[in-house]
Amino acid sequence: MAEVERKKRLADYGLHSERLLMRRKEPGVFERELGDLEDKLMLTTVEKAVAWAQGHSIWPDTFGLACCAMEMIAIVSSRYDVARFGAEVFRSSPRQADLLIVSGRVAHKMAKPLRQIYDQMLEPKWVIAMGACASSGGMFANYAILQGVDKIVPVDVHVPGCPPRPEALLEGIVRLQEKVIAGVPPAYEIRDVAS
Ligand code: SF4
Repeated sequence: MAEVERKKRLADYGLHSERLLMRRKEPGVFERELGDLEDKLMLTTVEKAVAWAQGHSIWPDTFGLACCAMEMIAIVSSRYDVARFGAEVFRSSPRQADLLIVSGRVAHKMAKPLRQIYDQMLEPKWVIAMGACASSGGMFANYAILQGVDKIVPVDVHVPGCPPRPEALLEGIVRLQEKVIAGVPPAYEIRDVAS
């Protein structure tokens, strides 16, 4: 049985984040059984095409929490036009969405519904923590607010600001696109946590 080597590490994709410090998982049993079949059948090329399509058709869930949500709503307007990046289709059901934009502070009461929404999204799925509050609790260092949404869901991209302007969120979406197209696995795979 041929042992499959991981062909690329994250650094090979040109990314320079703290995640590069994390060791990647070993190949699974299925991957080991497949051996180099993937290369022989040129499935890699198909994967690249799928990744390209996924990157250009990210559908966010319709989900807003606080002031940051106003900036998120603005990205579909003609001024910012997120449709240029194929991400304007905000879905009303998490089962039809693959991106969760956490736009605002997360109260502890809201943590469970947020996680439920995330769980109902199909894989692969991604999370953007928008703004200081979603990323770290922001100015709300108190008992009522979750001090960073990455405590309950794996975050792919953090967008800084209070609030981040719509352009900043667009930048976050473009960064996410780059990762998806480059074949970088979603955060739940990299961090090896329950998706
Ligand atoms: S980061 Fe600022 S704008 Fe966004 S939810 Fe927190 S306080 Fe509101």
